[in-house]
Amino acid sequence: MTEKRYFDDPMTTEFTAEIVGTRRDERGFGVILPFTFFYPTGGGQSNDTGTIGVARVVDVFYDRDDIVHLLDREIELGKYPAKIDWDRRLANMQHHSGQHILSAVFWKTLNLETISSHISGDSPSTIDFEVNSLSDKEILHVEQKANQLIFENRIMRAYFVENKESVPFRRLPKVDGEIRVIEIEDYDFSACGGTHVLQTGMIGSLKIVRTERVNKKIRIHFVTGRQALASFEQFQYAAQNTANLLKVGVDEISVYVENLQMQLKDAQKELKTLREFSLDVEVENMVQHAEKVGEIWIVTKLFENRNPAELRALAMKSRNYPNIVALLASFDGEKLSLVTSCAEGISVSANDLLQKHLAPFNLRGGGDKSIAQGGGVADGVDEIFKSTVEIVQNS
Ligand SMILES: [Zn+2]
Repeated sequence: MTEKRYFDDPMTTEFTAEIVGTRRDERGFGVILPFTFFYPTGGGQSNDTGTIGVARVVDVFYDRDDIVHLLDREIELGKYPAKIDWDRRLANMQHHSGQHILSAVFWKTLNLETISSHISGDSPSTIDFEVNSLSDKEILHVEQKANQLIFENRIMRAYFVENKESVPFRRLPKVDGEIRVIEIEDYDFSACGGTHVLQTGMIGSLKIVRTERVNKKIRIHFVTGRQALASFEQFQYAAQNTANLLKVGVDEISVYVENLQMQLKDAQKELKTLREFSLDVEVENMVQHAEKVGEIWIVTKLFENRNPAELRALAMKSRNYPNIVALLASFDGEKLSLVTSCAEGISVSANDLLQKHLAPFNLRGGGDKSIAQGGGVADGVDEIFKSTVEIVQNS
């Protein structure tokens, strides 16, 4: 059974590790010490990393009562200097302690019980609550209260009790026997086996960066310490870059973007009107150059790279002219698009024309008597309207 020294002393990061046993499995080579300051993964907190002798400690985990230190190479039994990666440990302690504070504040101010939590020192940590929604105002209130508790630099104690009824736990532990208590001075008591800061001021500051809905729960994402600073730097960088691009101050971005959105909306509206007008003129021009076949006027045109939606719009507009049959194609060197349309009262069917024109290319499409559309990959389309007059005559 490994003695867990991190329980009473989360600040020691260097010690002499005596390797008294080894474990070899598919994950690699692990060592057992009589006592350790390395925290193993558990209780929602990830493991410490560091070194034992020349070996890197890449993972630390429980194996029943023993704590296994997984190494990146094999070393012999004996005594070695061991060192825990302090930055990672500190970030884990700060986030874990921050979680205790947040869970306590949510409970005391909004009566919300923490359902689960995940502690991570290098990405936002999370806490889940069983609630439908949380307002921005509630989040801000909780965050401010949490930071107040941090700035008050309250003592955080860790100790064991035999009788759980003797402690005013926020949430009564389900297990009996010896229980480890984490106490935030005059504020909160909870059962926990993790590593925590000695006083809340060590957390630095705490920022809730995001809330999201996960099934029937609300998950909040928060950062503390160096992560909170990094998060601020990231936001500041993004905001300053945007402000520079817009040539305004950071505090003017939202008003400026709102104005831009309105201008864009007006411009899009105007563009739509102009585009419609331009298509009207284009159709008028095409109709004037139509070829007369009996009572019918045929418009054929092959475009390069014309958007199929525009082809269709042109074809639709041509139906406003009496006795017009329009066949409009576009080819981008690889793909053919064809739209056919027939004015009302004409005996020819647009769908029929489409099928007959696509058949030589082995392509398909569909539509009805008035408008049809189709196409696909074709080798060359220069001859596409070669037999149009004949086809119309025989339809
Ligand atoms: Zn804890």
